[in-house]
This record gives sequence, C-alpha cells and structure tokens, in this order.
Amino acid sequence: MDSKLEKRFRERAVELGNSGDPSALTELIQLTRSPVANVRRLAASAIGKLAGIADANRAVSALVPMLRDAKPQVRQYAVKALKAQGVAAKCALSDLRDIAISPVEKDYNHRDAKLAVETIEEALRIKEKQAVHCCQRCGVELEHDEFARSQKAFQRPFCNYCFDEVFMERRNFETKVELQKKIRAKDGTWVQSIGERLICEALDSQRIRYRYDERFRILDGYAIRPDFYLPEHDIYIEYWGMDSADYKIGMLKKQKLYQQQGKKLISLYPDDKPRINEILREKIENFNRKETP
Ligand SMILES: [Zn+2]
Repeated sequence: MDSKLEKRFRERAVELGNSGDPSALTELIQLTRSPVANVRRLAASAIGKLAGIADANRAVSALVPMLRDAKPQVRQYAVKALKAQGVAAKCALSDLRDIAISPVEKDYNHRDAKLAVETIEEALRIKEKQAVHCCQRCGVELEHDEFARSQKAFQRPFCNYCFDEVFMERRNFETKVELQKKIRAKDGTWVQSIGERLICEALDSQRIRYRYDERFRILDGYAIRPDFYLPEHDIYIEYWGMDSADYKIGMLKKQKLYQQQGKKLISLYPDDKPRINEILREKIENFNRKETP
C-alpha cells in the first residue's frame, strides 16, 4: 500500500474513533482487516474509544480475532479495547487469561491482559449483584443460593422446586460428551479415558497448569478442540486413544493443522501410558529448549 493511502487510512481510523458516532463501527471493523499493522492498531484503539456508544457485541466479535494478530502492538490495542467493553467482553476472558501468562507474549501485553481480565471480571460481579433472577420455568423470583445452584448445574435459572424436576428430566438426557466423561482424575477433573486421566495426574504432579477439553479457535473459521492446553508453555496435548480408520484420518488432519499454524503439539498414544510422566517432561523440555537457543 502506498504511504499516502496508508496515512489516509490511519487518519480515518483516528477520526472515526473520535466521532462519537455508533455507526462508525462498521467502517472501523473493515479497517481492522487492513494489511497495514498500524491501521489495524489504530482501528482497535478507535473501537475502544467507541465503547459504550457503538454495539458492544459487534465490537467484541471484531476485537477477539485481533488477539491473535501477528503484531504484538495490535494485540495490545485489542486487549485495551476489549477491557473497555466490560461485561460484553466476557467471551474474551479465557483468551485474555492466556495472554497474561503466555511465555511468547510481550511484558506489556501480560500487564494489559491481566488488567483487562480484572476489569471485565469486576464488571461482571457488579452486574451480577444488581441482577434480579427469575425461574425460567415458573417465573418466581429466585433467592441468591437458588440462582447459584441452578446456574452451576444447568447454566439456567431455576427455583429449587423446578431444579429438582428438571434435574430428574435431565438425568436421562445428559449430553453425550458429559456422559463419556466417566473417569475422575485425582484433581477432580472428569475425563473420557484412562490415558487422559494419567495425563491430568502427570501434569498435576509436575505442577503444570492445564485446561482440559475447551474450545479454541486456532484458525479463522476453523474450530479445533484440543484435549489439553498448557497456558504457561503455550503447548497443546492431544491423546489419540482410539484406533478406527475414521479416527486416524481425523488425527492426521488435526496434526497437520497444528503444524500449519506453528502451534506446539504433543501427541500421546496408548503405548505411552506406562511412561507418561517421563514422556511429558521430555517433550515439554524439548519445546522449551528449542525456544532458548
Ligand atoms: Zn420454578
């Protein structure tokens, strides 16, 4: 892009951010996709300035992918702009928590991400205190402990009476995934296989923080769900437990995707079970050694 045009886009981003006009968001979202990092950075900053004015959900949807921008300063302004969105940025919390401790992230991004997490969590707490919750089934106003109990079990508000009724119904219709998680690791995590349980316990005994079975978007538009993610090391772990042909095709596709994205993946197999502690330690050390030449 020639420098005159680039300058025009940069100025336009700043101008839109100062406009106080909610409709400026559409053009700013387009600017977040600019090939020029400085334009993307200023667009993120401008979206932050429109927090409370423009549609918060649209703003958040545009900002979250920017947390994976190749340029750290673009990520920084996306973090700051998400912080400004308050409760609407709830869905960005796990990404922000990862940035706050990622070993491959800049210190200023550690700091700003931590601050953003605190701000969004505080906004959520305040909203929670103010909210009046009613039973979704019978409409009665809920006591705080009724709300907490049903929210925890169903992510829905039910009074104690309806809770018991719904609980009985639900017991027969548990989701497939949750039913498959029948095995409990020592730290309380429910998993799907002995192999996964051994991985949990190996990580736990080595005091390595992990997240199990969460949804991550690695590639734009391509959802991938790793078995384990180690936020302190930025490493993914997949346990390839089954043996059918379909499963193997999925495995190769998935392994390739990690590779294409430059993500660090540790693959573990049933044969690794007897030595899982040592194998994990070696593989994590190998990745860390490559990074510090
Ligand atoms: Zn009820």
